[in-house]
Amino acid sequence: MVNVFSGLPLWGIFLSGVLFGVFVLWLLSRLLVKKTNHDQTSPTATFPTIFTNLHADTQVPLAIVDKDGSLIFATTIFRKLFQFQSSEKKINLLRSFISDDRRWWREHVAVSHDQFSAKAFSLSEGSKYIYLTILKEENTPQIYVLATDLTSIYQAKEQVKKSNHDDSILYNFAPFGLLVEEDGVVRQVNKAFCSMFGLPAEALNANFWLKQLQPETATKISHALETFTIDDYSHKFVEIELKDSQGRNFWCQFTLHQEFDQGRTISYWYFIDANKQKALAQELKQSSVVFEASSEAIMIVDANKQVKMVNPAFTEMTGFAAKDIQGRSPQILGSERKDIKQLEVIWHEAERKGNWQGEVWKRRKSGERYPEWLSITAVKNKQNKILEYVAISSDMTTRKQAENRIRYQANYDPLTDLPNRNLFMDRLRQGISRARREGTMLALLFIDLDRFKYINDSYGHNVGDQLLVKVARLLKDCVRNSDSIARFGGDEFAIILSPIYGSKNASRVANLILERLSKPIDLDGYEVVSGGSIGISLFPNDGDVEEQLVKNADIAMYRAKEKGRNNYQFFTEQMQQSAQERMSLERDLRSAFSNNKLSMAFQPQMNCKTGKVGGLEVLMRWQNADKGAVSPAVFIALAEETGLIVPMGNWIMKTACEQYVRWKEKGIAPDYLAVNVSTRQFRAKNFIGTVQEVLNSTGMSSKNLELELTESMLMEDQQFAIKMLQDLRDLGLKISIDDFGTGYSSLSYLKKFPLNNLKVDQSFVKDIMDNEDDASIVKAIVDLGHTLNMQVIAEGVESEEQQELLKQYGVDYIQGYYFSKPMNADLCEKFLIKMKGLPGVTPLKRTS
Ligand code: C2E
Ligand code: CA
Ligand code: CA
Repeated sequence: MVNVFSGLPLWGIFLSGVLFGVFVLWLLSRLLVKKTNHDQTSPTATFPTIFTNLHADTQVPLAIVDKDGSLIFATTIFRKLFQFQSSEKKINLLRSFISDDRRWWREHVAVSHDQFSAKAFSLSEGSKYIYLTILKEENTPQIYVLATDLTSIYQAKEQVKKSNHDDSILYNFAPFGLLVEEDGVVRQVNKAFCSMFGLPAEALNANFWLKQLQPETATKISHALETFTIDDYSHKFVEIELKDSQGRNFWCQFTLHQEFDQGRTISYWYFIDANKQKALAQELKQSSVVFEASSEAIMIVDANKQVKMVNPAFTEMTGFAAKDIQGRSPQILGSERKDIKQLEVIWHEAERKGNWQGEVWKRRKSGERYPEWLSITAVKNKQNKILEYVAISSDMTTRKQAENRIRYQANYDPLTDLPNRNLFMDRLRQGISRARREGTMLALLFIDLDRFKYINDSYGHNVGDQLLVKVARLLKDCVRNSDSIARFGGDEFAIILSPIYGSKNASRVANLILERLSKPIDLDGYEVVSGGSIGISLFPNDGDVEEQLVKNADIAMYRAKEKGRNNYQFFTEQMQQSAQERMSLERDLRSAFSNNKLSMAFQPQMNCKTGKVGGLEVLMRWQNADKGAVSPAVFIALAEETGLIVPMGNWIMKTACEQYVRWKEKGIAPDYLAVNVSTRQFRAKNFIGTVQEVLNSTGMSSKNLELELTESMLMEDQQFAIKMLQDLRDLGLKISIDDFGTGYSSLSYLKKFPLNNLKVDQSFVKDIMDNEDDASIVKAIVDLGHTLNMQVIAEGVESEEQQELLKQYGVDYIQGYYFSKPMNADLCEKFLIKMKGLPGVTPLKRTS
């Protein structure tokens, strides 16, 4: 039987004090959670609330033990409850238990998989009663033990017995429910009981009070009662979930104490609302999960700024295990002296202001320095004294890397490591404002490689990339460190020279660059000469905003290209104007082509032996509404630059073939049709396929089709040209070399190309009567052609004398105004019919 103890108000206040303290702490921890969550800049998601509770001074009787009961941590109040000395090292919780309870721990807590266990324990041979809520997490070795001191309840029993129910504090203010029954009849019931079960006291002043409760609740209590043995009646506490009369669920701990007095049985029922306890337990459980499972590294530092605990994520991130840094200063995590200094300042500020967050550099155990997002919160007690700090950090290495990468990608060209257009424009803007401030000049150089496309196409992208890298380096060598270089995209580079003292400075740099670019560059064993064209614009003369300077340098660069490449040009007003004209011409050409406004002309090539029309060369025509007939020299060149020549060339090949087939059907077609092919067309993907397609769709026979190519097209990439020519010959086509003598040909290669005709350029024909050199060149070309088994065509023949001489030289075909200007299809048809009727006569006669 339990001893009688003294004053009721004392224990009542004590018990409610504990519960209230638990509740306040729980609230406090919730507030802290919210505060941290609201901070958007912090990557921290959850504040490990356990640590707001976990300080030794915390008013929660809590301990963490291992499965054998060895104490890992205990709050002071827990230690007091169990009378552990704070100086004691290795403490075992179980040693306070009576042997039965020790067995119970070993059989239930140590081995069970239950997360929750609860039991009342009598300590020190029955002088103390403590209710323990025990929490176990799977995968963690720690067991959380939350204690409630029940000693006073047990002590109260005597008190209850003696008190009369009228005015007792017990009945009105006790924080637990109490019901006293005598031989099954309710004698006393207190307020707390009534409100716990939601019943008025009168309802219980009857026999069989259990029946007044919710049926389910009554059954649960009865069942629980069955588990009591006579011995238990003194200290057993049961925890069950019940319903009040309104249907609200609540957790309840109860015990029953019985006394037998003169044949009467007096039962004392004590009920404690365990909801708050449960909530706290749940909270702790979640916190422990957060601590253990958090992907963020968590470090608990005591008020003296010594590391107390770290979680597994911390160890994983830093390489430091708890034992490595426990008891040491968090500053040791700094790497370089300046980092350590910074951490010192940060921890100082955390102490002063209660929190700190931001980016810091730390070191891992391996010595590696890394960036980290750190957020420190000081946990304080009611007196505003710091109890401990919670430092949460996440590794920013990958984020930093990603950030750097993004910043780099936005501003740099990864191939050459040069600034890209974006960054360059920024620098140009700054350069302009500095030049304006200082009253100096600035030059903008635009550099385009002349032969990049060719090198890239023929040697492959790898070699092309290498060329760009080498050019980037070469450009750096040509300028001062203070000048900016950028890769604008493709094979375009730009340079800011700032400041300069006159345009001469810019000329000097441009000359130097051109000189370097005209020397062979070694790329993987290939020696290539890239060459370049440079356009220059000057601030303030040619523009005072960056876009304008860039545009004008670009225009000047175009002019340099037009001037035959490998030279530089300063921007002029006149260029501006022609650039504008060019742009409007380009617009017109595009719309003319898409609206089918381009047309064809045919010019006959006369066979010198038969005196008949041998073939027809087809030439493109553009009749513009405003400008009249635009010269092919102008619009074909424009189409070449813009790439429009590819669809235009394919269009004329197809349309001319259709026309030829119609003439063929009428029986008036000459032997062949000659079509001009541009470089771009020749190099376009699947040119052979396009030709094949034209033949198939028009019904043109390949042996009637001749293609006119130029020397430079073949010489640029001879391997490619040989392959293409072979394929075309396999199709059955003939090939002429147009404008022969104007370009550069390697005679040894000429021999290797499968060619049919050479067309002597009209510039030689033009002066053939007056210039002996030209005459002997033409003679030599004819002989060369014949030696190489080719037929020779002379074009631009305007007079009978020219024609006579050319015939003497052995030219096979003659083309020129002397016989006929290029004609549209109708005129040409008439011409063909007329020629058909004429017998072959020598010498040839003018027809109109
Ligand atoms: P080309 O291929 O050398 O064409 C011959 C040019 O000489 C034509 O100029 C023609 O009208 C002109 N011509 C013919 N006989 C005489 C003559 O006795 N005296 C003079 N002074 N000129 C004569 P056109 O039509 O102005 O074409 C110029 C160039 O434009 C062509 O030179 C060719 O390179 C290009 N072209 C014309 N049509 C096409 C086409 O459909 N495709 C391609 N890729 N280029 C074309
Ligand atoms: Ca031609
Ligand atoms: Ca020609």
